[in-house]
This record gives sequence, structure tokens and C-alpha cells, in this order.
Amino acid sequence: MIDASASYPSPPGSPSSKDRVNRGKTSEIGSSQDELNTTALKALLGLSSWQCGAISKSDKPCGWQILKKHRRHIDTHLCSMLTLDQSSPRLQYDLEKLIGFVHCHHHQHGPPRQIRLDEWISVFPSPPDQPSLRPLVERQIAKCFGRPTTTCMGTSRKGIRCNKTIGGQKVANCTKTISQICDAEVYLSDIKLDHYLQVLAVNVCCHFHTDQSLSKNVPAWKEKILAIRNEADLGPTDLQHKSTTRGSEKQIPTPNRHESRHASVKEEQRKSSKGQDRKITLPCPSTDRLGNPHLHWPSQYDETPLKIVKRSESPNDHTTSYHDIRRQMMDALDDEDKKDGFLYIYEVKGNKGFVKIGYTTRSINKRHDEWTFDCNRELVSLFPIGATEARRVPHAHRVEKLCHAELSYRNNVIYCDGCLKEHFEWFEVSPSEAIAVVRKWTTWIETKPYLFDGSLKEEEARKSADIDQFMDTMSKNTGDIRTSR
Ligand SMILES: [Zn+2]
Ligand SMILES: [Zn+2]
Ligand SMILES: [Zn+2]
Repeated sequence: MIDASASYPSPPGSPSSKDRVNRGKTSEIGSSQDELNTTALKALLGLSSWQCGAISKSDKPCGWQILKKHRRHIDTHLCSMLTLDQSSPRLQYDLEKLIGFVHCHHHQHGPPRQIRLDEWISVFPSPPDQPSLRPLVERQIAKCFGRPTTTCMGTSRKGIRCNKTIGGQKVANCTKTISQICDAEVYLSDIKLDHYLQVLAVNVCCHFHTDQSLSKNVPAWKEKILAIRNEADLGPTDLQHKSTTRGSEKQIPTPNRHESRHASVKEEQRKSSKGQDRKITLPCPSTDRLGNPHLHWPSQYDETPLKIVKRSESPNDHTTSYHDIRRQMMDALDDEDKKDGFLYIYEVKGNKGFVKIGYTTRSINKRHDEWTFDCNRELVSLFPIGATEARRVPHAHRVEKLCHAELSYRNNVIYCDGCLKEHFEWFEVSPSEAIAVVRKWTTWIETKPYLFDGSLKEEEARKSADIDQFMDTMSKNTGDIRTSR
């Protein structure tokens, strides 16, 4: 999932390491070594232009303007942070709060958030008893792996990039592994570093390319990390570990050998064992304890709470959606709308109260399998219920859009750690409410309200001109108690 060709550029106005090191020593920034004013801190954090500034997908800083109502909070908040250094317990919390004020909703999660946090932390002074270069080293190590992607980074015999989707579980494993590698506990230990690089290597690619990844990526990454370590004059701590830090070694997550979901793992294990032996420089009991890189992370679905990046502003007023509904109805059908298809609703394990409503022109099972693989979430199907409802309906995409419009007052945008995308089709409603809405619009579309050319029949347009009345009638006819009052 790592595109080695891409690397993270710095956001605008972010301080260079030189600025960071010299912070407080120059007259422009602070009047003495320990003093810093809010304006200078704002400049160091790249906030002077009141823009989001997160690195977007196009590698450019996001130009979204910070809301006026947030600017006052930012100033107050920065003022309270002037005395912090990298060892302050509240620094991480305060910076996360700052992200909430500064970043637009597209950049509240995932790599843009992490990159910004890392940049910002480096702005604050190191405490006197900590090697000042360490946070910088960790940031440099993170950069060795490039921008996260969801596709295999292997190459075919013809030298063409594989680009096969690796699935949400591997994507999430890569994120977790990189975070471990950026911990001094790992990057300063040759044994652990070897192990975690192997874990990363088997997770960045599809199962066809694990051998290739172990033999090519591991030495390349290790070379870069050793160079960073050498540059910072940080040597391996393995010798000390053997005698003094036995306890901390135990904190490394234990591989769960029994939870493997894919039969191919065993095959991968067999195929990669050669490459694995090759990578570990010294035979050592510790490597056995760290285990097989394929099995390091347990094979399991993500059941953590969904990451909501945007919530509806009026979740208690269903009539705020009526304007959208009318607009959707009036729009002429486009080519996609004209196709038949299936409507479906599902929730994911661990997240009751949230439903996803979608449509597909293929089979629902196939679409569900794709969601499961890409997002690494266990789906619980809520609709269709029974064989009668599992039928093709005309203009399925339009039905989906009408359902989304009606429930837009409860719409949430979710950031997905599996496919690294935002999902826009999640609604904070009960399953019964979602089902009632899908049934209502399915019934309506089956009355053939559109003409052959795709335009709405005049009679329907007239009826829906009074949208409140129209919705009341629709709800009464279909038994949707929620809107029929
Ligand atoms: Zn942004
Ligand atoms: Zn591949
Ligand atoms: Zn996803």
C-alpha cells in the first residue's frame, strides 16, 4: 500500500528543521530562547494565511479557508500552548484539538492528519534531557515508506506495476506497522526492525508479490533507515535489550496463529520462508519470538467506531431534506439512472445505529464482498429482506439518490482506514427507518413516474410542487410512520 515513488512534501509555511532548531534564538521569532508569541507560533505552524494547509491527494496544500468562527479559538488555543515542549503530556492532545479547528472536514483523518501532527510536533522545542533529533528522525523514517496506497506495489516480469487491490486489512496493517517502526523501541533494534520491515513487506503487496517484496523492499527500506540512524548518530540498542529491557520486548503484539482467515496465508508462509531466512542477519532466539511476518497482525475485521468526519447540522428536522428530494425528482434521468439494479442496506459490526444505503447493477453479494475486502468491515445485511425484495428495480440509481436525499438530514461522512477514502453514504438512522425509505421510493419508481426521454411526468411534477403534502401522502401510502404525522 505504499507508493515509494511519492513522498510527503511539506505544507506551506512549515518550518524547516533549521527553523525548528533555531526557534527562539532568532529575534524575529522570540525575544529570548524561551519566549514565543502567538503570531510567531502561528507562522511556525503554517497558519498565517488562515488556510487548512493539509497535504491533499494532489500533493498540494489545501487552500480551504479556516472558518471565521474558528479563528478566535485558534488564537486563544495557541496562546495556551506557548510554553509547551515535546515532552509536555498535553502537547499531542492540544495539537489534535488544533487540527479540529484548522483542517477542513476532508483532512481531519488519515495521512493528512498524521503528517500535519508530525510537522507540528517538530516545531516545539525538545526537552533538555531528550536527544533533540529523535522526533525528526522518526518523521524521516515515516517518510521512507512514501504515501500510503491501497494497491500492490509489486511489479510484473515485464516491469509493470501490479496495482492489484490489497484490501483494507493489509492497508490497516501497514499503517500499524509503520507506526511501530517509527518507535525508537523498534528502529533502534536491528532484530525488531528486521521483523517489522518483513511484516510491512508482506502487507504492502498482493500474495503474488510477497517474495519480491521481501527481497527488494526490506533491504531498500533498511538501508534508508540505517542511513537516517547513522546521520543522527543513533546506534542499535539490541545488546542493551538482551540484558536490560526484557519487559518492554513483551509489549510487542503477539501474533495470533489461530485467527487466519485466508487459506492462502499458509501458502504465503511457505513461499516466503526462504526470503525471510535471507533477511534476518543473525540467528537469534528473539526472532523466533517475534514470529512469522504473515501472522504478526491477527486476521480480523475492524470493529472500531466509524470515524465520522462530517455530521449533519440538523439531525432532528427531517423536513430540511425536502428541497433535495424535490430537486432529485425533477432532474431528468441520465444514462446511469436509466439502468435497473438492486438496492441494499447494511450496517457494520460494532457500529449499531449507522446504516449504509447503496445500489448496484451487478449482484448484491458481489458488491458486499468488495466492500468487505476493501474496507475490512464485517457487513450485516439489513435489506433486501426475503426473495421478493431481492428484485431488480427500474432506475435503481435514482431510487438510491432519492433515499439519500430524504435521509440527508442524518447523513454522515465517514473516513475509512481500510480503503483510505471518505464514504458519503452513511446515515445515522435505525434500520427500520432506512428500510421504510427504500421501500417507499421503490414503490414510487415502480409506478413509472418518468417518461421514456427521462423527464418527470407532468402529473408527478404537479403533485410534488407542494412537497410537504406530497411526502405526507407518500408516507401514508407506504406506512412510513416517521414522516406521516
Ligand atoms: Zn483541507
Ligand atoms: Zn501484486
Ligand atoms: Zn472503505
